[in-house]
Amino acid sequence: MSEERKDIKSRNLDELTAIFAELGEPKFRAEQVFQWLHRGVRSFGEMTNLPRALREKLAERFELTAPTVERKQVSQKDGTIKYLWRLADGNCVETVVMEYEHGVSLCVSTQVGCRMGCLFCASSIGGLVRNLEPSEILDQVIFSGVESGKRISNIVLMGIGEPLDNFENVMRFLELVTAPQGLNIGMRHISLSTCGIIEKVDKLCRYHLQLTLSVSLHAADDETRTKIMPINKNVGVDRLFSACGEYFNKTGRRVSYEYALIRDVNDTAEHARELARRLRGTGSHVNLILLNPVVERGLDASTPARVREFTGLLESGGVNFTIRRRLGTDIDAACGQLRRLAAKT
Ligand code: SAH
Repeated sequence: MSEERKDIKSRNLDELTAIFAELGEPKFRAEQVFQWLHRGVRSFGEMTNLPRALREKLAERFELTAPTVERKQVSQKDGTIKYLWRLADGNCVETVVMEYEHGVSLCVSTQVGCRMGCLFCASSIGGLVRNLEPSEILDQVIFSGVESGKRISNIVLMGIGEPLDNFENVMRFLELVTAPQGLNIGMRHISLSTCGIIEKVDKLCRYHLQLTLSVSLHAADDETRTKIMPINKNVGVDRLFSACGEYFNKTGRRVSYEYALIRDVNDTAEHARELARRLRGTGSHVNLILLNPVVERGLDASTPARVREFTGLLESGGVNFTIRRRLGTDIDAACGQLRRLAAKT
């Protein structure tokens, strides 16, 4: 992270402390500012317990940006909220607030667009525009909390973008959002979902974080997976499963897998058997979800009969799975439906 970075909210407390020392300010001021930033102020002027001269000095030296609500949609079915945030440079990203029995879960975006090119995913239409800064990922948590009035207890990095393709900024975001002086969300309450950029999964292992790693698998054989996920071309599922095994060895946390059932593409008995063969005995969990149809690509969800057959084979194959409920389908907030709406509004 560059020392020149003017974006103050992307700084951690140590960096702020060093900056404040340089400014000749006492250490506790750094903590005060850090707390204000994570509480959702929109300007230094709102930091009312700081001397006016210091607020002015900070405003000269740093940038403090905050997103604005471009659009808010609330599901009539289940209360899921989708925010479309406008960022300082005019780009937009989406965040989804989902209510479960165990708390409120937030699905955040990590990039504007995505370059992974998964065939079934709307986020890849239009490619990658840019990475989000740590502060821009954090702001989704801060301001979704402020705007909705809900206490966010869990975070899933499953919105627009590939988190491991924006590795450094995502790592800094994790550090910020778990900071005890800030939102203090436990690492065990955070899931990171990836299409499986192998060298980055390896790198993540070395951080020994307690977060849940969720791998978007969608097929357990190379032929099918490569057809729908270009990332698989260079790597292959053997290497992917061994990286996931390593993740478990290093962190003690079992990897979970996402599997969207796509009619006639990855939902046959053969596919189910292959998945069971790969996962048997690993204790891993599979989140099955019906594909949200992608009209542009001619992909549809599996039929109920196919789903029954598929899950029956997983059961007899000894694989733990759940069929994920699709929240927010009436507001296009369900998995894979987040797209560059902003560009069109
Ligand atoms: N890039 C990351 C996170 C974003 S996608 C990843 O690949 O995991 C979040 C999840 O939604 C992934 O599991 C993705 O495969 C899934 N998804 C994408 N499009 C979908 C669709 N049309 N229907 C169901 N799930 C979809």
